[in-house]
Amino acid sequence: MVTRKKPGPEQPAGPPANATDVHDRLSVALPQPRCELDHKDAWTLLVATILSAQSTDRTVNTVTPLLFAKWPTPEALATAPREEVEAVVHRTGFFRNKAKAIQGASLAIHTQHGGKVPADIAALVALPGVARKTANVVLGVAFRVASGIVVDTHVMRVSQRLGLANAATADKVEHELCARFPKDQWIDIGHRILLLGRYTCLAKGPKCADCPLFELCPSREGQALGSWQDRAAHLGAAVAAPPAPGKGK
Ligand code: SF4
Repeated sequence: MVTRKKPGPEQPAGPPANATDVHDRLSVALPQPRCELDHKDAWTLLVATILSAQSTDRTVNTVTPLLFAKWPTPEALATAPREEVEAVVHRTGFFRNKAKAIQGASLAIHTQHGGKVPADIAALVALPGVARKTANVVLGVAFRVASGIVVDTHVMRVSQRLGLANAATADKVEHELCARFPKDQWIDIGHRILLLGRYTCLAKGPKCADCPLFELCPSREGQALGSWQDRAAHLGAAVAAPPAPGKGK
């Protein structure tokens, strides 16, 4: 039997980027970072975030209008036939696990929290299918509560390339990032780094020449194009424009 070594975190070639400079530049590039999952309240955001695992926000946004039209409350979704929910969320992948998770979380919200999503990290991560990433998204976006920093695959990769984190797990990377950024920056810095990873610091072929963090980054490749303010404007424009079909994970 061949045992494959689990890939570790990306190792930057130089010293880590300065967190204050990262924050300041991304604040210019992305002055108003927004969650790209369509939602109208904390519950619809929670469900959409669960569905976004191993999928794209764009795909989730094609599924949730029908999902919430058919079952507009936690109680309605919790008591819907499982196979009907699976059929609606099928396109997002892992549909059986996701249907089970969104129905389990909705049932707990209905029976234990009076139909309202709790604005509390401990109560959120106690819901079926809700891990820290989902809880941080809901608390930060829906309630503006800084419970931690959202760490998904994009934030993991960018943080490691910048030298801001070295750990191999999302929870440990979140811990490292929370130690580098003041608490009042936690909500927005997570979304800004996520958007940088989604549109510029791609897993394969990062667009370093366009990146507003080029001069700060120990993993940069090639030459920067123009001033960082010009490149920051480029990132802001890329995020503001609707993603092309199939893009926007
Ligand atoms: S795109 Fe390049 S310069 Fe920007 S953070 Fe990623 S690796 Fe660094």
